[in-house]
Amino acid sequence: MSNINDDNSSIIDGKKTSQKIREWVRLEIEKLRKSYNFIPGLAVILVGNDPASEIYVKNKEKQSLEVGMNSWKYKLSAESSAQDVIDQIHKLNKDDSVDGILVQLPLPEHSSSLERRIISEINPNKDVDGLHVVNAGKLVSGDTGLFPATPSGCLILLKEYFPNLSGKKALIVGRSNLVGKPIASMLLNENCTVTMSHSKTENLISECKQADIIIAAIGIPEFIKAEWIKKDSIIIDVGINRIEESNSSKQKIVGDVDFEEAIKFCKAITPVPGGVGPMTIACLLLNTLKASCIRRNLEPPKFDFTS
Ligand code: NDP
Repeated sequence: MSNINDDNSSIIDGKKTSQKIREWVRLEIEKLRKSYNFIPGLAVILVGNDPASEIYVKNKEKQSLEVGMNSWKYKLSAESSAQDVIDQIHKLNKDDSVDGILVQLPLPEHSSSLERRIISEINPNKDVDGLHVVNAGKLVSGDTGLFPATPSGCLILLKEYFPNLSGKKALIVGRSNLVGKPIASMLLNENCTVTMSHSKTENLISECKQADIIIAAIGIPEFIKAEWIKKDSIIIDVGINRIEESNSSKQKIVGDVDFEEAIKFCKAITPVPGGVGPMTIACLLLNTLKASCIRRNLEPPKFDFTS
């Protein structure tokens, strides 16, 4: 693969690519403002006080503002009912200045079983998280639409470093609606031969050994071992897991793959942190920009990640 990092290391640098995307979004927003006199806007609904969600929402707000996008946060109390969230969504659906609506997940426990029902109330054209069934269906059908940010980030990274994915054997470990299923469709659309695996998969190690590409989206720290992977495979590690550092009470973040060992065998790997993580918000901004253009019947600008 000729376009591995400049220094010829095998680390896929999501931090660098996400910065490139954010800068590109900023310039495109500037053009839209000058040519059409509007600014794309993202509205985030946060229910309750989950500390991790608070941090994610704060980062989304910060990065939206940095690229010149309008950003609104609607904080609802932890006791809010599903109907309260739906009422807020309906208001944002009607608000013409809002291009993207995102409900920060997970919702508090009493509403979590209603997540799908709540998401289904978002206007699919404003569904920048790509979780509405209309957008999920478009992805499966190979149609254009708004698709989930994390798997979009995985695909951009893969294609930036390995432009031709056609014919590669891709193994997805994890089948969530947020990551596993959408990235499977995306890779199928890229003509990969896709295998889905999950907690009931028999002989996962043998599946891993055959894969040219492994997408790990499991949520178990360092679950995939170096000896499971094929030499020269490409590893995209989506996992974000907090563990105690050895010999200290401090916490550190690790992925779903044993990075230190895997990097010795694979062709390329995303680090955690600094791989897929930073791509998620960047792709959310891309989606909001795209939604803002489609809603106004403008051709959405296309980010060329190979340049
Ligand atoms: P989910 O918990 O929704 O899904 C986890 C998946 O892993 C399930 O499909 C589950 O299988 C599968 N799984 C669990 N145990 C095993 C096992 N032993 N062998 C094979 N498969 C297994 O997680 P998400 O998809 O939401 O997230 C996955 C990881 O990615 C998490 O660490 C999360 O924090 C991270 N993440 C990172 C993001 C980012 O921005 N970088 C964004 C979103 C998530 P089953 O269906 O059978 O239960």
